[in-house]
Amino acid sequence: MDQRSAARRTVPGAALFLAVVTLATTCTAGRGVVGTPGAAGLRDPYFPRLGNGGYDVTHYDLALDVDDGAGQVRGTAVITARATQDLSAFNLDLTGLDVRSATVEGRPASVNRAGDELTLRPDGEVADHLRRGRTFRTVVRYSGAPRTVTDADGSREGWLRTEHGAVALGEPAGSPAWFPGNHHPVDKASYDVRISVPEGRTAVSNGELVSRRTKSGRTVFHWRTREPMASYLATVAVGRYTLRHDVTADGLPVVTAVDARVAGSSAVVPARIPEVMEWGARTFGPYPFASTGAIVGLPGDAGYALETQNRPFFPGPPDMGLLVHELAHQWFGNSVTPASWQDMWLNEGFATYAEWLWSEEHGGATVREHFDEAYEDEANWAFPAGRPPGPADLSRPPVYGRGAMVVHRVRQEMGDDGAFFTLVRGWLTAHRHGNASTDDFTAYAERESGLDLTELWDTWLNGRSRPARG
Ligand SMILES: [Zn+2]
Repeated sequence: MDQRSAARRTVPGAALFLAVVTLATTCTAGRGVVGTPGAAGLRDPYFPRLGNGGYDVTHYDLALDVDDGAGQVRGTAVITARATQDLSAFNLDLTGLDVRSATVEGRPASVNRAGDELTLRPDGEVADHLRRGRTFRTVVRYSGAPRTVTDADGSREGWLRTEHGAVALGEPAGSPAWFPGNHHPVDKASYDVRISVPEGRTAVSNGELVSRRTKSGRTVFHWRTREPMASYLATVAVGRYTLRHDVTADGLPVVTAVDARVAGSSAVVPARIPEVMEWGARTFGPYPFASTGAIVGLPGDAGYALETQNRPFFPGPPDMGLLVHELAHQWFGNSVTPASWQDMWLNEGFATYAEWLWSEEHGGATVREHFDEAYEDEANWAFPAGRPPGPADLSRPPVYGRGAMVVHRVRQEMGDDGAFFTLVRGWLTAHRHGNASTDDFTAYAERESGLDLTELWDTWLNGRSRPARG
C-alpha cells in the first residue's frame, strides 16, 4: 500500500475493539457429527477474529453478478478447503451481505451469523468429509449491497463505488465485504473469479484472463490466479477500463486496465512496467507470478494505491516511485506474505527500500540520501517498525520509512553488497508463495550473514528511541 496519494487520517480513540465473543458451539450429538468447531479467529495481534481455524482453503471459485450501478451484487462462492482438525462446524468471515444458502459437500448446512462471523454446521451425513486431512467443498450463495469499510485509521476499503462501477480493495480487512472466506493472510489460495457486468463495462481481477463472453447484454470476465494469494490482495474493478495486453522481452504477460479518461496521462504505466519487472527480477530474483500489470482508475476512486496481486490498483496515474513501490510488493508481501499484521513492515520496509534502490540506479536521490532524509523525519520514530501500537498505526510512517532503514542497516552491517542482495534473494526464495514473520526474517538474516545482529534489532527495529545514525 502507499498512502501518499491522500493523507491518511488518524481517528483519535479508534483503538482496536477487542470483542471476544464466545461462540455458542456446543456440539450437539447430531447424526454422525464428529470433531469440534473450528476457531472463530486466528488470534492476529491486531485483528483477532480475522480468519478462522480448523481448515485451510486451497481454492476459491467466485462468481459475482454486478448490477448497473455496481451497488448490488449476487454471488456464489465455491470454497475448496482441507480440514486441519476433525470439524463439527466452522466459520467464514463475511461483512454485510445476505447469505441465501450454504451447502457443504452438496448437503444443506445450517448457518448462524454473529456480525462478521458465519458459523456453518454441516449435515451429519457428510461428517466423514470433514475429518482432519480431508478436502471438502462449501458453496455459499449470497447477495446484497457490498459495504465500504472504514479502517481504524479512517481510510476506506472493502467495496468502493466509483463513477462507472466499483473497486474492491482488501488491506487489511476489506475482502470479507465482497466474498465469504478465511480472510487472514496466512490462508493463501488459488482463485477463479467470474464477474458478470453490463455489456460495455470491463471487469478486471487478479491473475490471467481466461475468457470474456458477452450474451444477452451481459459480459462475463473470467480471471484465474494459479499462484497462492492472500485474500487482502484479491480485487475486482468494474468500470470503463481499456484492457491492454502486452508481453515483456522475457515473455511475461502485462495486462493493464486504464480508465479511458486518464489514458493519456497513464501512458507511463504500460510503457515502463516491463523495465521495472526486468529490474525487479535482476535485483530480487525471479518474478513470482504468471503475469503482471496495473489497474489505473481515477483519483477519487480510493485514497491510496494498493499492491493487489499481479496488477496493483492506482487511483489515477502513478509516478515512477509509486509504480516501483507497488510492483516491488509482488515480491515483498504478495509472494512472501506477512504471518500476521504485526509483520507488515516486512512488506512496506522492503517496498520503500525498493523505491530507494530504483531512485539511485536511475539518476535520482541515492539510497544514502533517502536514508538520511528518513532518519531526520520525526514521523518515522513514532513507534518501533515491528510494533505498531494498534491497527490504526499499520500504515503510518515507521512501518515504511523506519522499516526501510532497518533493511539498509542490515546491508551496512554486512558490508558487502553482493552478500546482501544474495541474502534478500535467498529470503524471497525460502518463503516464496508462503508466509513469514519478523522472527523468521531476523533469524534468517543472522544465519545467512553469520552476524549477531541483536543490537540492530533492539535499536533500529524495536527500540523506543532514535539510535545514533549508522
Ligand atoms: Zn506499500
